[in-house]
Amino acid sequence: SLSTQLAVERAAATITGEDVRRRIGVIAADSMRGRYTPSPELDETAEWIASEFHSIGLHPGGDGGSFLQRYPIRTLALNPAESRARFGPTDLRFGRDVAPAYPAILPSTHLEGSLLVVSGTRLEAALPEDIVVTGKHVLVVPPWGADLSGAAVVAVVRTVLAAEPLAVWIASDRGSADWAAAANEELRRQHTFVGDPEALAALVVRDSVVRPVLAALGMNLTALRSRGGEVVRWDDVRSFSVALEAVVQVLVETDAPNVAGILPGSDPVLRDEYVVFSAHMDHVGVGMPDTSGDSIYNGADDDASGTATVVEIAEAFASLELRPRRSLLFLAVSGEERGLWGSGWFVNHPSVPLESMVANLNIDMVGRNWSDTIVAIGREHSDLGETLAYVNARHPELGMTAIGDLWPTERFYMRSDHYRFARRGVPVLFFFNGTHADYHRPSDEVDKIDADKTARVGRLIFYLGLEVANRTARPAWDPASRGAIVGGG
Ligand SMILES: [Zn+2]
Repeated sequence: SLSTQLAVERAAATITGEDVRRRIGVIAADSMRGRYTPSPELDETAEWIASEFHSIGLHPGGDGGSFLQRYPIRTLALNPAESRARFGPTDLRFGRDVAPAYPAILPSTHLEGSLLVVSGTRLEAALPEDIVVTGKHVLVVPPWGADLSGAAVVAVVRTVLAAEPLAVWIASDRGSADWAAAANEELRRQHTFVGDPEALAALVVRDSVVRPVLAALGMNLTALRSRGGEVVRWDDVRSFSVALEAVVQVLVETDAPNVAGILPGSDPVLRDEYVVFSAHMDHVGVGMPDTSGDSIYNGADDDASGTATVVEIAEAFASLELRPRRSLLFLAVSGEERGLWGSGWFVNHPSVPLESMVANLNIDMVGRNWSDTIVAIGREHSDLGETLAYVNARHPELGMTAIGDLWPTERFYMRSDHYRFARRGVPVLFFFNGTHADYHRPSDEVDKIDADKTARVGRLIFYLGLEVANRTARPAWDPASRGAIVGGG
């Protein structure tokens, strides 16, 4: 009806450039010190967003009836002195004889099993059918002087790992000084994870250890190495025992926040489904000073602009007397800059069932570049693209046109929080104005924000969210896109 339409327009009009600028100013203030994950200033930002959600009238969508959801962050390292390895009859010392092969955490379990020796680097399409890798240790012998991080060796190691061995041991022919430097670097490495780390049982072991052990089995290391780029050969050594017991120590145990607020829907059935609006409140913290001496990376565009917009949209919806049919979930995540941490945790520990989330509208960098255009990445992957075009056409007064991905080779579709939702089957759109000269620099400051633009993008996403929340049918994936994108974490 006309009165409903007027109420909706009044709600959209509460999203103003003035409000946007004020809220970005709070989040991107120097006092927030770039909102690194984790940091006290990130916590302060989260508390502020939670208080905004509370005063807007949202219901808590976090842990234990609060607006906050906290996720664990652990920094781990191998304890080389306490870790044990045995290769056949030979006891190995970490650092002297053996080291982790790649920047990953070794499994901290006891792994005993027989050996499969792999030489040559020319891979056939797949693992030969008669070769069993599962439950075995695999020794990879690369060609002389091979770069263990090079494509040829990595391809062999990947093929082996895909077949789920107990561990992969890569023989190294490095000289002593080279070996010591590389081994020490791997042993000193710390690994920071959210939740449980994925272990990777891949080690490098020195030729000086491998040579006599193979000789006792009637195999010649020099001959195996000299196979170079020949077709990969798999030599099964059945009566052989290898053991690995990696002791991993926790160096730091901390946590970081997400903020979630819910506005319940009005339809008795559809209110159990949610439209999720998200942005990341974190940025990269304090770092290298620029030429002006500024070392605080404010992240006004990235992504105080999106975070402020999520709060603005929540406020606009909360002002509506007639609520949308579906419920709305407003989410500010952290750890985006460190690897989509908060959104990854949220989709694995959602405060409402994942299947009940009908769409994720993610907003990351909407305060710079063209004043009349916003890029909506992912339009082709679901009918959210058509819904956006429909809504956009009905609101020419916004002076804001949503266009498609201008930079497909940059793969931005995989680079912000919506990707976590997409991988778990939730249709997404990602609103993004592209990067600029101040991207990830101390100069990404609030005074460079086009707040009027941000407000108009916010109104467009408000109208889109309303349409998605009210349509009886939930958004649908393009079948081919679903097959290519959905699956995994
Ligand atoms: Zn961002």
